Amino acid sequence: MSSSRSVYSTDSGRLCPDCNKAVAACICQQQKKLLIKGDGIVRISRETKGRGGKGVSLISGLSLDDDAIKQLSGKLKKLCGTGGTVKDGVIEIQGDQRDKLLIYLSEQGYKAKLAGG
Ligand SMILES: [Zn+2]
Repeated sequence: MSSSRSVYSTDSGRLCPDCNKAVAACICQQQKKLLIKGDGIVRISRETKGRGGKGVSLISGLSLDDDAIKQLSGKLKKLCGTGGTVKDGVIEIQGDQRDKLLIYLSEQGYKAKLAGG
């Protein structure tokens, strides 16, 4: 009576280790693609919590690789005449620069919009 292995597979084949659904019905890959690509909209928001002063402007949703994001952040820092950094694919620019960033990114062909507070 040791045929219990078959419990862990189905007629449709292997199970996805992430969602335990049959691989054919798995949506993990699709979700990963969505995560990477996002919805194509670049969001500009402001973060003031624990930052003191004017806080920072955050640009998220960029579907660029690390190098391209660093290059873009350099341009944005120059544009705003301020400092900034990149964290986890999100560009941080010091101060409230949302209007400038929105105009610049729109000019560059990004679908940018203001988000959050
Ligand atoms: Zn899955």
